[in-house]
Amino acid sequence: MLLKGKTALITGASRGIGRAIALKMAQEGANVAFTYLSSVEKGEALAEELSALGVKAKGYRSDASVFAEAENLVNEVVKEFGTLDILVNNAGITKDGLLMRMTEEQWDSVIEVNLKSVFNLTKATIKPMMKQKNGSIINLTSVVGIKGNAGQANYAASKAGIIGFTKSVALELGSRNIRSNALAPGFIETEMTHDLANKEEWLKAIPLKRGGTAEEVANVALFLASDLSAYITGQTLQVDGGMLT
Ligand code: NAP
Repeated sequence: MLLKGKTALITGASRGIGRAIALKMAQEGANVAFTYLSSVEKGEALAEELSALGVKAKGYRSDASVFAEAENLVNEVVKEFGTLDILVNNAGITKDGLLMRMTEEQWDSVIEVNLKSVFNLTKATIKPMMKQKNGSIINLTSVVGIKGNAGQANYAASKAGIIGFTKSVALELGSRNIRSNALAPGFIETEMTHDLANKEEWLKAIPLKRGGTAEEVANVALFLASDLSAYITGQTLQVDGGMLT
């Protein structure tokens, strides 16, 4: 029980990696607050699944890209759960296209959902964490944020921005015992990658010769959330089967 008695807030947990992280943290004893946007039924089903593990769990419909919603959400979570020890900024989208054809809407929406959301949630969450003098913030970036990817200039920029943000927060809040780390998955089998262009090319380039699972990412999120990583902050951990070495 690595997270017994802790409270985790995970954005975008109705499916994919966020859902796996929510389940993993609950299995390790954490009380779990999580968000979703459009997948209402899946969100409700997850809340039941988490509660069945014997922890307190609640799903919130909340748009991570909207500053005021993030503030309200964190206030509600703190009121309901009492503490807030772990924040996982997981919510993310893709709207791919070559730059020549990329619209302003494709650019703005990906930056707002992937990058501005991290600012929104982190800014709201550090208040209770500073009071507690304790916290672990985990931001989902991507290997694409490190190496770039043709057709994903918006996504790569958002994920590279997350790495700079993560390091800055680590520098600002280390003295308050708040850690801030990024997690960079490579190719993970979820709805997000289901229709990815050049899927075969991506898989060929992975030394372990397969895509990863959401649970394999969740295992590393658990490590970063727990005291097993108490002396790690400001880092980006790749979970990519060796794709980017
Ligand atoms: P996914 O299966 O598409 O799930 C995305 C989740 O984000 C859903 O729960 C969705 O909620 C939620 N979401 C989207 N927009 C939101 C918003 N504005 N506010 C709140 N929640 C929102 O994606 P995934 O593959 O699990 O990816 C999770 C994270 O890992 C993302 O940040 C992604 O960029 C990153 N990542 C994934 C991979 C990969 O290979 N899959 C690789 C590197 C990085 P609804 O269901 O309600 O829409």
